[in-house]
Amino acid sequence: MRRVCKKCGEEKEIEEFVKHKTCIYGRGYTCKKCKHDLYVDYAKKYSSEYRIRRKDYFKDTNKAYKELHKEYYIEYGKKYYNNNKRKISARHGEYYRLNKDHLSKINKNYNKLNRIKINIAARLHRNSNLEKYQQQERQYVKSGIDNLSDNYIKKIISQVSDIPMRIITEHPELIENYRKQIILKRSLKLKK
Ligand SMILES: [Zn+2]
Repeated sequence: MRRVCKKCGEEKEIEEFVKHKTCIYGRGYTCKKCKHDLYVDYAKKYSSEYRIRRKDYFKDTNKAYKELHKEYYIEYGKKYYNNNKRKISARHGEYYRLNKDHLSKINKNYNKLNRIKINIAARLHRNSNLEKYQQQERQYVKSGIDNLSDNYIKKIISQVSDIPMRIITEHPELIENYRKQIILKRSLKLKK
């Protein structure tokens, strides 16, 4: 006695089919092998789905649990830190030592990026408060002139001579001499 499997279409001996009381000849219409494959597929699918569901479930409940006991966790973290300060700082030091080049690169990049951000922010602030800034700048220049600040004198020296700013800065006696000259000129002007 032979039968064709409805799944794989192969003709097989009736004994190759799964036992089934209500079917003709007491055997089902799917062969044992196909039934087994189906079962394996199902088990595989179900178990991976189940695993993912389980993971999600624990992720969510863990989160919820931690949120609910937030204060405890914060307190626990503090306590742990206090009890293991030395260990933690040693670990950080070790980490820093091992990743020095990498970390300094990150830091440099961060500063670079931030510098651009800061510059843009400063420019935007200046543009939206232009009048205030200009007044402040005028005030700054005026006070420089009035008080004969180093910066003001340096600017004047570099304007009337060809001495580079760097050299002027390196020679404070130059600045001092010029200051005296200006004071003298001013006092003569006043007497006129
Ligand atoms: Zn089959």
